[in-house]
Amino acid sequence: MRNPIVIGMSWIAVYLGIIVLPLLVLLFYPPTPNAERSFWLEFSVALGFIGLAMMAMQFALTARLHPIEDSYGIDLILQFHRYTSVVAFFFILVHPLILFIDNPETLQLLNFFQAPWRARAAVIATLALIALVVTSIWRKRLHIPYEPWRLAHGILAAIAVGFGLGHALGVGNYLELFWKQIIWVGMAAAALWLLLYVRLLKPLFMLKKPYLVETVIPHRGNVWNLVLRPRSHQGLNFQPGQFAWITLQISPFRMREHPFSIASSATHPDRLEFGIKAVGDFTNTIKDVKPGTKAYLDGPYGVFTTDRYEDTAGFVLIAGGIGITPIMSMLVTLAEREDERPLLLIYSSKSWEDITYREEIEALKDKLDITVVHVLREPSEDWSGESGYVDKELLQRYIPKRPATRNYFICAVPKMMEQVEAALHDLGVPVTNVHMEHYNIV
Ligand SMILES: Cc1cc2nc3c(=O)[nH]c(=O)nc-3n(C[C@H](O)[C@H](O)[C@H](O)COP(=O)(O)OP(=O)(O)OC[C@H]3O[C@@H](n4cnc5c(N)ncnc54)[C@H](O)[C@@H]3O)c2cc1C
Repeated sequence: MRNPIVIGMSWIAVYLGIIVLPLLVLLFYPPTPNAERSFWLEFSVALGFIGLAMMAMQFALTARLHPIEDSYGIDLILQFHRYTSVVAFFFILVHPLILFIDNPETLQLLNFFQAPWRARAAVIATLALIALVVTSIWRKRLHIPYEPWRLAHGILAAIAVGFGLGHALGVGNYLELFWKQIIWVGMAAAALWLLLYVRLLKPLFMLKKPYLVETVIPHRGNVWNLVLRPRSHQGLNFQPGQFAWITLQISPFRMREHPFSIASSATHPDRLEFGIKAVGDFTNTIKDVKPGTKAYLDGPYGVFTTDRYEDTAGFVLIAGGIGITPIMSMLVTLAEREDERPLLLIYSSKSWEDITYREEIEALKDKLDITVVHVLREPSEDWSGESGYVDKELLQRYIPKRPATRNYFICAVPKMMEQVEAALHDLGVPVTNVHMEHYNIV
């Protein structure tokens, strides 16, 4: 089997290689020497080139490419996308600032109506980039709904990279050689191709593999299980804990695709269940979805799966609320595979009546070597079990004496995940044994 660490490191090397490629080219094949070009001018241009290359690479990071997703998981990739966007933004903003300080006459280039088109392209790219960053960081504060934001995000990114490249080609100082232009145009074409792949080709593939809603089953905690059956194909081979993007009705070209963990057994790729909590526009409609409705899936994705840790002595599964869905898939799959390893489920819910899949989990006790600890935030007076938050003291009471012998899976609201992760660390669980799925990735 190929070593995942080596694969992960290789992707990082590829990323860094592409980012610095334009600079390496400049280093080995510098432009015609010009005595008037100061160090700061060269430095500013270098920042501009790196920033532009980083921006172009964002298309690859967000294209849901399986080889990359399978190495890191979507939340890590999106986190990387966010951080590197801010760094690229900083480089691109500092690039003209240095020029203005080094040679104040260049400030005239900001006069949009009189400036040459290459300067106008730079202004348009920078404004698009500012809009991109502001609407992403403060999307919720600005009350921008997810779908329009996502559409605008793609358009603004294409404008920023397209006009940024136009600016670089227009300035030309460093790109006068034909093949240097080829590198840049190639990078931009690859970015555009990725955008088309995600928005056009992938939906076309999905169109060929539709699913039909078989039924919608109500569960405790305002959760609805959407049951899908493949129509004229084999279904979806997935690992327990993975998720898929669902589009309901009309076509997969719609922007309304939402990610949901598969809650059913991985041994049945031809019957998929998604446990969906009603929290907003889309999820509130699930209860009314009619049997026979068409659905399209993009997946499976994610590295949050017990299947990656076959050698472990057992699993500790920690869920909060709807975070139970991927864990439910792990449990039912392990049960169907007659897995005999010891399992511990620590499950935080609001009240006894709110525990999603309470009866189903109880039934699994007959098939698995499992200890279930329910933790209630609002217990009734006669509740004698655990209550409050899942903290270090609670975990210490239940996790094995040799904690490093298990793998730990956490899926809950961000605050609970942070606290549980820190507590496990304090209790001696190696970071490599802790796996988390974030539902608030955007
Ligand atoms: C990997 C993953 C697995 C998930 N698994 C489950 C699950 O098994 N069960 C479950 O109930 N929920 C799950 N979620 C959360 C679920 O995707 C959101 O609750 C749902 O998309 C909210 O949509 P809405 O229109 O009803 O709510 P809204 O009120 O419109 O959105 C609430 C918030 O959800 C997020 N969101 C909205 N639309 C999308 C979208 N299209 N894509 C990504 N995020 C969006 C945004 O942060 C938004 O602010 C999962 C999320 C992720 C990332």
